[in-house]
Amino acid sequence: MGIFGKSKIDERFSDSDRSRRTVRSRIKSRIIHNNGTGNINLEDAMNQVSLEPEKYTPEVVSDADKEVSVTCSGCNEEIPITLMRRNLYVCPKCGKHLKISAKRRMRNIVDPGTFRRLKCSVPFVNPLDYPEYDEKISQLKDKTGLDEGVLSGVGEIEGEKAVIAVMGSEFLMGSMGIAVGEMITNSFEVADKLKLPLIIFTASGGARMQEGILSLMQMAKTSAAAKKFSEHGGLYISCLTHPTTGGVSASFATLADITLAEPGALIGFAGPRVIEQTIGQKLPEGFQRAEYLETHGFIDQIVDRKDMREVLAHILRLHDKKRRSK
Ligand SMILES: [Zn+2]
Repeated sequence: MGIFGKSKIDERFSDSDRSRRTVRSRIKSRIIHNNGTGNINLEDAMNQVSLEPEKYTPEVVSDADKEVSVTCSGCNEEIPITLMRRNLYVCPKCGKHLKISAKRRMRNIVDPGTFRRLKCSVPFVNPLDYPEYDEKISQLKDKTGLDEGVLSGVGEIEGEKAVIAVMGSEFLMGSMGIAVGEMITNSFEVADKLKLPLIIFTASGGARMQEGILSLMQMAKTSAAAKKFSEHGGLYISCLTHPTTGGVSASFATLADITLAEPGALIGFAGPRVIEQTIGQKLPEGFQRAEYLETHGFIDQIVDRKDMREVLAHILRLHDKKRRSK
């Protein structure tokens, strides 16, 4: 972290060596499901799924970018964008994990050139005739390059194949409407069909109010898909990022075999202010943050963004080994 000397994040990164060892021993002691693959031909099965090639290559830094800086929402420090990018948008000063787009996260996670996007075939619906909803959605599609609030597909992490879905908080706060529910359900079904593990990165404000009750129904739908996938022996890893709240936290986000989270992520159903007003009590320090939830057994391990690829690859390798030995 050159320009800032030894910062908190350096210390945290050296701490994370210890945390990686802990996650390894925890995972080893856990029963990891056998996918029960039989004689599936992965390439044939993948050809039956509608996938589009999408290349994720390292970002090119232009001369104009070198002048740009971003303000950290944790310490208000101005950080050069080039340094932020190198640091995967983790503040080198205070260690705050800033929000990143779904595409950027996917680029950070998958091996370059291995990702194939799952096509979203959900037609747009506006069940409540919500004013200007359709314009908003089409603008967001253009702006974000996403089909809806989820980017999903098949990719490799350190050579280990998996179905990976990433929610985009840049798309209407990652709220879960019909399309998001269908894309998540589809990810479970594709992972089941291909006999691959499933990794979902969640980031969501909850239900999509523009779709009313149909939005809430996605909780039941995605939970049912998670249950079915589990019954078929699939490995599901959930990575909770800031913020994971509302209907997403109350459904598939917290139904995984292994639940990881990014440091400092807000994870909960209702917001802390709403809870305080409802129960008329002050909430404990750090309530609904990843660290609090880890201490109380809700999360298996907090993983720094820069270690996430390695931890996921390690879990996938353990799982694969177990499958092969059966
Ligand atoms: Zn900061």
